[in-house]
Amino acid sequence: MFTRMSSLFLRTLRDDPADAEVPSHRLLVRAGYVRRIAPGVYSWLPLGLRVLRNIERVVREEMDAIGAQEIHLPALLPREPYEATGRWTEYGPNIFRLKDRKGGDYLLGPTHEELFTLTVKGEYSSYRDYPVILYQIQNKYRDEERPRAGILRGREFLMKDSYSFDLTDEGLAESYRRHREAYIALFDRLELKYVIVSAMSGAMGGSASEEFLAEAETGEDTYVRSTESDYAANVEAVHTPAPPAQSIEDKPAASVHHTPDTPTIETLVDFFNRAGLGRTFTAADTLKNVMVKTRTPGSTEWKLLGVGVPGDREVDMKRLEAAVHPDEVALLDEADFAANSFLPKGYIGPVGLAANGVRFLVDPRVVPGTAWLTGADKPDHHVVDLVCGRDFTPDGTIEAAEVRPGDPSPDGQGTLVAARGIEIGHIFQLGRKFADAFGLDALGPDSKPIRITMGSYGVGVSRLVAAIAEQSHDGSGLIWPREVAPADVHVVIAGKSEEIRAGGEKLAGELDAAGLRVLLDDRTSSPGVKFADAELIGVPTIVVVGRGLANGVVEVKDRRSGERADVPVDGAVAHLAELVRAR
Ligand code: ATP
Ligand code: MG
Repeated sequence: MFTRMSSLFLRTLRDDPADAEVPSHRLLVRAGYVRRIAPGVYSWLPLGLRVLRNIERVVREEMDAIGAQEIHLPALLPREPYEATGRWTEYGPNIFRLKDRKGGDYLLGPTHEELFTLTVKGEYSSYRDYPVILYQIQNKYRDEERPRAGILRGREFLMKDSYSFDLTDEGLAESYRRHREAYIALFDRLELKYVIVSAMSGAMGGSASEEFLAEAETGEDTYVRSTESDYAANVEAVHTPAPPAQSIEDKPAASVHHTPDTPTIETLVDFFNRAGLGRTFTAADTLKNVMVKTRTPGSTEWKLLGVGVPGDREVDMKRLEAAVHPDEVALLDEADFAANSFLPKGYIGPVGLAANGVRFLVDPRVVPGTAWLTGADKPDHHVVDLVCGRDFTPDGTIEAAEVRPGDPSPDGQGTLVAARGIEIGHIFQLGRKFADAFGLDALGPDSKPIRITMGSYGVGVSRLVAAIAEQSHDGSGLIWPREVAPADVHVVIAGKSEEIRAGGEKLAGELDAAGLRVLLDDRTSSPGVKFADAELIGVPTIVVVGRGLANGVVEVKDRRSGERADVPVDGAVAHLAELVRAR
């Protein structure tokens, strides 16, 4: 059965929706794929649902191919399991909470680590049961602060989430590797351009973690990539290459200077360049010591930490947060400075920090032998030629300085440039956090319990519809890759005559019989309207049955390349079947 546009539940729109910020949102609404119900909440109409289901099918096939087993958990969940892991509180305003008639607390699942752990604990008990990978494709709920760009960031959205359960760390690494391969296979099938960036695993608490980012200027995730190699990473995950250490012997002795009115790096550099020292300083020669405090989870006590970065760079709080994770970090406020009177704000130096037992971590560029212009630990004074490894010894390094375009790529090839992407998948090794919370053990061969180690892996199925649309469209509309297109062939009847109408019907019937998915535009609208809709809807192959039929030809248009060719109507089915098969 082919689909007739004359009865398809579809209304295309000529105008862009008023709230649309990005092309995918604009086009998916105009082409009648989705309709907004509330902020971040959308309905799927027939063509949209087909694309969504096609993506779902590809995801399912690739998950099944790595031996993952599909199950389906409820989205409506009781509070207790999330209380047990602390996430009921941690999620704050980001989850939808509700009460049942008895006053019991429930939530709509934002992700299901707790429930999968409990599910496995409920069924499995022996080491012989493991490993196992389970997944589901299910609506998730997150009360996003800023639902955005239609289905790109929804508050209800479809996710594939899988969870691996292994006896050993090596087992977990293998489950992780298999997911990585499955994701590569499925994103390749969806013809996406994407990068895999190493990520920091944030609130989930884990170690190895990578994100798959679809390249898109409209994406919310920033990352950096090398100009020369395929190195790509989240800004939080960039490791600064350390320059070689320098010799200490040839460095002049440190000297302290009275430096009134130098509240900024700029004024300080300016001061020394006019101080007649016979050399020129730049901001990169200064060492800026930023004072923060950190707190380990569950503790109430804040500890001081000095962070030394070259003065031409800011401290990037997101990088700093990732570097101290799972500890919390905050800048010192006035009260903190008041409580620690040995900290002369604006003139803090490595020597004073060491003398007062404050931990001091530096940017990896601060290697032994480098000489710095920095605070001299008393008001209105700075020190020149304070040499690392001679005059001060940091407690270690920290990745806290901002990453800038033009910085050398950590793999030694080329320099970094900033880019934007859409997170379409995320894989990470959770470790034993959730198994610990619920006591998920397997009984080993020696009857001793083995604590299970887990991985968790997500794909944004509904987001993929938008991500593909972001990458694949033009001024006239959507352009779907074959694998996800709502039909294989869009047959347009372009003419009112009985021959043309009958020709179109016949071709559609034959294509359908040959196993192709056909969309037939049999409406009474003008050819112009039909062509515009065909371009908007984005089926990769458009066949126009029109005036050429009198000469025995139909026109075949490739929506992707724009190429057109007249094809004999007699051989059209075989020709189109071949096109579809060849992708
Ligand atoms: P983001 O950083 O975009 O908020 P996340 O890191 O919170 O995403 P995960 O918890 O890793 O998301 O969820 C797995 C996948 O689900 C993501 O990689 C993304 O593709 C998808 N996803 C997450 N949040 C949304 C959303 N609000 N709307 C649509 N898809 C989403
Ligand atoms: Mg993520």
